Amino acid sequence: MIEVRDVTRTYGKQGRKSSAFQALRGVSFQIPTGSTAAIIGKSGSGKSTLMHLMGGLDRPSSGEILIDGKSLGSLKRRQADRFRARDLGFVFQSFFIEPGQTCYQNVVLPLEINQIARSKRRKLVEQALEQVGLFDKLRSKAGTLSGGQKQRLAIARAIVHSPRIIMADEPTGNLDSATGDKVIELLFGLNKRLGCSLIIVTHDPDLAARCQYRIEVKDGQVLDVHGPRESHRPVVPHAATPKRALGHPAQPAATTPRPRAPRGMIQ
Ligand code: ADP
Ligand code: MG
Repeated sequence: MIEVRDVTRTYGKQGRKSSAFQALRGVSFQIPTGSTAAIIGKSGSGKSTLMHLMGGLDRPSSGEILIDGKSLGSLKRRQADRFRARDLGFVFQSFFIEPGQTCYQNVVLPLEINQIARSKRRKLVEQALEQVGLFDKLRSKAGTLSGGQKQRLAIARAIVHSPRIIMADEPTGNLDSATGDKVIELLFGLNKRLGCSLIIVTHDPDLAARCQYRIEVKDGQVLDVHGPRESHRPVVPHAATPKRALGHPAQPAATTPRPRAPRGMIQ
């Protein structure tokens, strides 16, 4: 379960009303593990802010975010690093790819951070690039790609380590509709196959409609949460099912291998 509890985020100097801006004002909702959710709302409503908090990339000014019952704010730094590196695949609205590096170098990053054996890296990177249709760009500098290709590269980097949760901030914003459809199929396919939670910020009503949950944000507040219909209930648990605490080593996956940091490295 991903649980957002009465979260606020104030930018600028807190306590100084003139310069402080409350981007989130008491946001609460829950998304069950393995489900798909869309965060929708006008530009400036606080969607990216909310997503960054849910991914542990930023901290709430008040309130808390719990993943499977564990508060992100309570994690020790190493555990928080581990959560972000291993359990989370994040597609930023502005990609954050390294233009001077090759596509391979950009996508391999999460595998390096997770200390995946060198021998396994190339295959995983190739698979991820293949899935987003960029296999032939393996050795191209990321800076030479078009906007849509960069977007897909960012998605390859977010999925290469088979994370438990994928968060994507307007992942189709820069794509033509055919490529956008492909990316969406890919993300939903991962949700179905691996049971990873999928949380998408989007302006696209069709995309939002495909998600089991729709969280509507306006002026830093949740207007409405549309839940799933009975038939939409998530049925597939995450493939690496053996339950483990956030930021702790996984048990060996029964069927689907997923990269793991060596056991006992960080506890
Ligand atoms: P959305 O993703 O829905 O467009 P954001 O979460 O990016 O909205 O921003 C919500 C509000 O917070 C906007 O008014 C934006 O200008 C403001 N904001 C976002 N980031 C910062 C920041 N780092 N400093 C100050 N204000 C910010
Ligand atoms: Mg945004």
